[in-house]
Amino acid sequence: MTRPRAWFQSVSGDPERYPLNEVLYRDPKTGSLLEVVHDLDALRGRTPAAWMRLFDERYGRTSWPYGSGVWSKHEWVQPHVAKENVVSLYEGNTNLFWAERYGKQHLKLPDLWVKQCGTSHTGSFKDLGMTVLVSSVKQMIAEGKPIRAVACASTGDTSAALAAYGAAAGIPVVVLLPRGKITAAQLLQPMANGALVCALDTDFDGCMRVVQRLTEDSGIYLANSMNSLRVEGQKTISFEIVQQFDWEVPDWVLVPGGNLGNVSAIAKGFAEMKEVGLISKLPRLVCCQAERANPLYQAYQRAQGEGRDLEEGDFEPMVAGETLASAIRIGNPVSLPKAVRALVRSRGIVEQASEQELADAVARADRTGMFNCPHTGVALACLEKLVARGTIGADDRVVVISTAHGLKFTEFKAAYHEGRLPFEASLANRAVEMGSEPDEVIGEIHRALDARGAAGVPA
Ligand SMILES: *Cc1c(COP(=O)(O)O)cnc(C)c1O
Repeated sequence: MTRPRAWFQSVSGDPERYPLNEVLYRDPKTGSLLEVVHDLDALRGRTPAAWMRLFDERYGRTSWPYGSGVWSKHEWVQPHVAKENVVSLYEGNTNLFWAERYGKQHLKLPDLWVKQCGTSHTGSFKDLGMTVLVSSVKQMIAEGKPIRAVACASTGDTSAALAAYGAAAGIPVVVLLPRGKITAAQLLQPMANGALVCALDTDFDGCMRVVQRLTEDSGIYLANSMNSLRVEGQKTISFEIVQQFDWEVPDWVLVPGGNLGNVSAIAKGFAEMKEVGLISKLPRLVCCQAERANPLYQAYQRAQGEGRDLEEGDFEPMVAGETLASAIRIGNPVSLPKAVRALVRSRGIVEQASEQELADAVARADRTGMFNCPHTGVALACLEKLVARGTIGADDRVVVISTAHGLKFTEFKAAYHEGRLPFEASLANRAVEMGSEPDEVIGEIHRALDARGAAGVPA
């Protein structure tokens, strides 16, 4: 088989190829986004059945680096990175949770699955892309490129992932965060990992402007989602989903969207598998936005109103408002062109959820055993709407991408259950304060259980 190889190419359609070990974020000719293009003919040198067998053999083993969900797909991700330069914390291979009770009780949707991508080293799915980016940087440094540090602007999860992978590799990290707009866990992670943490007096879009200037110096490497290397790690979510379904493709995949790198990445994963013959159809994608940071939703509505496909020209940037789903509070998403293409190709949909809808969806799903972050709540709330509207059918197989662990967003959960949000939290479950006298406590427990009824949940 020909050796797998890949290169950067502009999304503008320009045919020029650039090597993956070059420090390059945009097409030098047109300024368009770049994407990693793989030599699919080389990948076709192994039959689809042989790839599936290989991936199944590698799944979760210790043999370096294939036990990582990302690096088990090494040839499809970054074939030029040598194994010894891989910086992996064995990310990926996350649980595809059968959301049986939530699906059946609340949605009459028995074939509902939640891909728990937040059950990962730093608690969010950003680890998937960051292992690829930091490994590529380590490869470049090994080849003699003068890279002093890696930097990113972040709504929180990207900086946590970058700081962890940078620390694991011994590469200095600079993170630019919007002061006061991220959670304590998200701020503490890069601090603990020894990154240079810069808390800027601006929002995410403001941090993004600064980091783009900072990284005009080629010695400081840009780790933002504009960097198309990260997409290569994030796309392995799609590979894992079909692998976990014994190589069957679900009907729908829902993912919360902010900067829109992930909806593009998931589409890219499915598209490449289809082109090489590992799968024979594409799932329909749903990009789920918070109502207060919904520029893509608004664009989609414009196109729908005129009865045609979404186009880039439908889009207008906005100033994103404050939302509980802080990681998707983005008004001017950098991966817009890729996302538009991904949605059109997959007959995708854009839906939105209000603050109350996302918070209630989190609480409803949590009561069936999950522990969701607010972004996953946005996706669940959008799912509830699409099921109610009949767009998603009762027999459809649906996967919701859970993007972060709920433990990173405890402030939000506490505010909901303690009734401190500016709307009625109808599913709040507060701690009941009791004394210490056993008979009294036991009496109160029985009364409380009786009040809850057979379902065992508060009325
Ligand atoms: C980054 C992130 C998203 C959104 O991904 P984009 O590629 O920016 O659209 C959603 N949820 C969480 C928890 C994230 O960290």
